[in-house]
Amino acid sequence: MALARRERVFAANAAPGRAANIRPNSHRKQRQPLVSTAYPHLLAPLDLGFTTLRNRVLMGSMHTGLEDRAKHFPRLAAYFAERARGGVGLIVTGGFSPNVAGWVSPFASKLSSAGAAREHRQITQAVHREGGKIALQILHSGRYGYHPFSVSASRIKSPITPFTPRALSARGVDKQIEAFVRCAALAREGGYDGVEVMGSEGYFINQFLVTHTNKRSDAWGGDYSNRMRLPVEIVSRIREKVGRDFIIVYRLSMLDLIPDGQSWEEVVTLAKAIEKAGASIINTGIGWHEARIPTIATSVPRAAFAWVTKKMKGEVGIPLCTTNRINAPEVAEQVLADGCADMVSMARPLLADAEFVNKAAAGRAQDINTCIACNQACLDHAFQLKTASCLVNPRACHETELSYAPAAVKKRIAVVGAGPAGLACSTVLAERGHAVDLFEAGAEIGGQFNMAKRIPGKEEFHETLRYFRNKIAGTGVRLHLNRRVTAEELIAAKYDEVVIATGVTPRTPSIKGQEEAVRSGKVLSYVDVLLRGAAVGKKVAVVGAGGIGFDVSEFLVQEAGHSPTLDLKAWEGEWGVTDPAQARGGVARGKPQVEPPARQVTLLQRKASKPGAGLGKTTGWIHRAALQMKKVEMLAGVNYEAIDERGLLISYGEKRDNPQLLEVDHIVLCAGQEPLRELEAPLLAAGLKPHRIGGADVAAELDAKRAINQGSRLAATL
Ligand code: FAD
Ligand code: NAP
Ligand code: SF4
Repeated sequence: MALARRERVFAANAAPGRAANIRPNSHRKQRQPLVSTAYPHLLAPLDLGFTTLRNRVLMGSMHTGLEDRAKHFPRLAAYFAERARGGVGLIVTGGFSPNVAGWVSPFASKLSSAGAAREHRQITQAVHREGGKIALQILHSGRYGYHPFSVSASRIKSPITPFTPRALSARGVDKQIEAFVRCAALAREGGYDGVEVMGSEGYFINQFLVTHTNKRSDAWGGDYSNRMRLPVEIVSRIREKVGRDFIIVYRLSMLDLIPDGQSWEEVVTLAKAIEKAGASIINTGIGWHEARIPTIATSVPRAAFAWVTKKMKGEVGIPLCTTNRINAPEVAEQVLADGCADMVSMARPLLADAEFVNKAAAGRAQDINTCIACNQACLDHAFQLKTASCLVNPRACHETELSYAPAAVKKRIAVVGAGPAGLACSTVLAERGHAVDLFEAGAEIGGQFNMAKRIPGKEEFHETLRYFRNKIAGTGVRLHLNRRVTAEELIAAKYDEVVIATGVTPRTPSIKGQEEAVRSGKVLSYVDVLLRGAAVGKKVAVVGAGGIGFDVSEFLVQEAGHSPTLDLKAWEGEWGVTDPAQARGGVARGKPQVEPPARQVTLLQRKASKPGAGLGKTTGWIHRAALQMKKVEMLAGVNYEAIDERGLLISYGEKRDNPQLLEVDHIVLCAGQEPLRELEAPLLAAGLKPHRIGGADVAAELDAKRAINQGSRLAATL
């Protein structure tokens, strides 16, 4: 769906007067009340027989880093309580291992004793006080465990961990099942409403299901009925232990996305057996962690995998939950209205906005702070063993220490620059009661996000700008567009505080011949290309392989206006995703179907390291793979000798003594940035003490995560 159309659908759904009085498709229709809302399917209660969920939103499991130590549980409790207060139907915690062997990493979260279960009561009580329900995820990592005690079906190392697991004996398998059952019973003691058994993403249970990782010849290996015995035993023995009135969600890997994954027939057989074993809900799992197909990154189309869950509809009688890249209420509503599932799992969207559900219910969808699927503060942090948060919402997982409470003394404050830093700062200041003037030299808010949003695959960045436009209006920030404010004006206005959020200016690398080539139009900056619409020829050299160099290359290799992210079939063709009924694991055989590149691009850097090494921990490989598909040549260790009318002269590697000419139509400079803070000196000279945030403060390694975090945190203190 084209973004423009998506936005129209969004506007139409959110518009007053669209409120429907519809009895939604429901799991148990006889118990459903009428739901009056623009999102009747999403907000309909779900009756599980012994308990009712207040709507169809399941907050998917995310490891935040707060699970690992009980001393962090008060923070975890506050974080979950905000989401419960925000209206989520069922929260699922980050994964807790049932024993040491199942640890994700040494001393990571684990629930295996009564003492530990007691600690969990502070979490479950906080959620229940807010009228919410919460399930604990039981996650045994098997061969994905980053420690020497890992175990699996067979002794086969994973490509993403350095440790080789020990192959379990038959008795060992039974002990793991016992640990799952004990963990579920302890979760119940800890006050949880249920558990989610993690059976997907390539973790322990998944490792038994496919021959790729299960080479056993005993009762736990061989044919599929043996390989699937483990999850079925786990669910049936948990059900036996916990009784009928306890939610068991089973996260079932419906699409493994590894070459020799499960066939669709096997997946359906497992689903039926899991239902029979006593699960209450089947949640959808998409892709093993080692899969080379992106599943949740921002370039993945919205709701890209809902069709997989839809395929399962009718095969089982219990509710099905669908997942992945569902980040807006109108998308979730559509997925349910289309009959893809009975529930929708959203994880990161609830980090981004704890009030997602309440805002949708109140007809305020336009106020939702949308997850842009960047992974920068959530998944990347989890992989770096840092506490998770959210790029667009720095309060996520920091609820107890970052407060936007009303200011004791109300001030007049000027914020200069409406990039991410200035937007976050000004809106938090106004929310706290200050009188805020926000000055922006450009014709629209957003700063560099106005370039980011033009990159194919970064369409979600539009949402952050929509959010801030509404937030500015809602909090009463006085916005002055087209206003390059001067120091004299700021001094004359006698503000109590001045915040400099003027961002950055592109670095000019001063290559020999560059100035003349700029004049002739052969050399362009990324701003010329992305913001000023400069025409670019068919052969291009991109100088600088940082985040912007990669993005500019992605922009240049796509035909204008084309983005696979907005075209599911094209995206599936590029990444080789197919119907699992056609090919095991849903991985297409044969060559990927990639549109030829719109331009021949060479991406260059001076460092000898792998280009893109500094990109996001969990997304860098996707950017690299996307450019490789488009035949972008990436050269590292390059020395820029000169630019002339023919192109760029470079020397590198063994050719260092024999410079090479890259014959190109254009050279696009993406060589980093310098802070822009021309206002600071005159303000200081006038005796003011201006604050600096974002790129205006430090340009090196600047990203929107730092800009928004710094802006919000400064605003919380003034
Ligand atoms: P800026 O965004 O540069 O905003 C500064 C603003 O101040 C501008 O709007 C400017 O017009 C205004 N201004 C300057 N002087 C004055 C004045 N005197 N008076 C009034 N207004 C003034 N970051 C990520 O985290 N993830 C990404 O995926 C990502 N992708 C990107 C893709 C591209 C193509 C680009 C260019 C950047 C990307 N970034 C990304 C970087 C991110 O956008 C920046 O880190 C962020 O915008 C910095 O925010 P800022 O508010 O400090 O500065
Ligand atoms: P960057 O990541 O620092 O990259 C700058 C590039 O320019 C590097 O490849 C650097 O490599 C090169 N360079 C630096 N000085 C140079 C010089 N004097 N001459 C020639 N080349 C030079 O910065 P950026 O690409 O401008 O991005 C700005 C910020 O936006 C980054 O911090 C990034 O995190 C953020 N961003 C993030 C994303 C994302 O997807 N997460 C996307 C876009 C931008 P060499 O020095 O080796 O040549
Ligand atoms: Fe979404 Fe990015 Fe926030 Fe993670 S950091 S929740 S991906 S917006």
